[in-house]
Amino acid sequence: MIPNVDLHTHSNISDGQVPPAEVVRLAARAGLAAVALTDHDTLDGLPEALEAGREEGIEVVPGCELSVVDGKKELHLLALWTRPGSLGLEGVLTGLRASREVRNRVILERLHTLGVSIDYDEVLDMAPGTVGRPHIARILVKRGLTRDYNGAFKKYLGRQGLAYAPKSELSLAQAVQILKAEGATVALAHPYLLGENGKALEELVRRYADLGVDAIEAYYTEHSVVKTREYLELARRLDLGVCGGSDFHGAIKPGIKVGVGRGKLAVPAAALEDLKARRRAKGLWV
Ligand code: AMP
Ligand code: ZN
Ligand code: FE
Ligand code: FE
Repeated sequence: MIPNVDLHTHSNISDGQVPPAEVVRLAARAGLAAVALTDHDTLDGLPEALEAGREEGIEVVPGCELSVVDGKKELHLLALWTRPGSLGLEGVLTGLRASREVRNRVILERLHTLGVSIDYDEVLDMAPGTVGRPHIARILVKRGLTRDYNGAFKKYLGRQGLAYAPKSELSLAQAVQILKAEGATVALAHPYLLGENGKALEELVRRYADLGVDAIEAYYTEHSVVKTREYLELARRLDLGVCGGSDFHGAIKPGIKVGVGRGKLAVPAAALEDLKARRRAKGLWV
């Protein structure tokens, strides 16, 4: 049997619920050939994940996930082969996390005026790396202020929510430039969230490719077989690499498991091998 890989996972260094080493162990137990840790806005979980990979005998691809804006669209980029400790990227990520702190405090102030008092330290205690709305959502659920996690976004934290505050974001062009300067492979994450298909999707992704995006996350937990095929064909037409993953977060996204998503996800190791071949052709490390 040809092994699979999972190139999109989160640990408790950002908004996942298990430590980096545990993500890697779950990947090894699932029989995967490789796993990428892609926490939001931070590389801080990577040393632990890489070490666990050596112990478990599974390849760990170091990465991260960034939210960027492009015109009216918000999209997510996966950066793969990010070196922990690379100063340029670490500087940018530190800045993003600092701006999150400002934003998180605004959200808490708005919640306070709505009669919900949450101490910022309580939020900080939840993750050693990147803290954001998911952590505030969990507190709201724990306090019984909303029925569940999604309800916390609907009522308070989502774009239409009562306590919403925008996040300062990188532009797509800036982010791609920074990541490419660090030698990372840049992929468009979960393209289904663009809400486009056919010609419009192709035009959009072609522009992203022109800006330097290298790959598209064709395989993803929420992609149907038909969608996956559409993205694979698009990648072939635009000569983009292909990646894929579960977007595992632990119990906050119940039912999503490392390697298999909701059970049907299968990301072939050949996709990873192709990404590596593309890197080698450019003289980049793998
Ligand atoms: P943040 O980076 O702090 O803005 O939080 C973004 C994360 O919150 C996303 O990665 C999602 O996991 C989660 N999220 C955003 N909007 C919603 C929503 N409407 N319902 C549930 N989760 C959401
Ligand atoms: Zn997340
Ligand atoms: Fe994402
Ligand atoms: Fe993600």
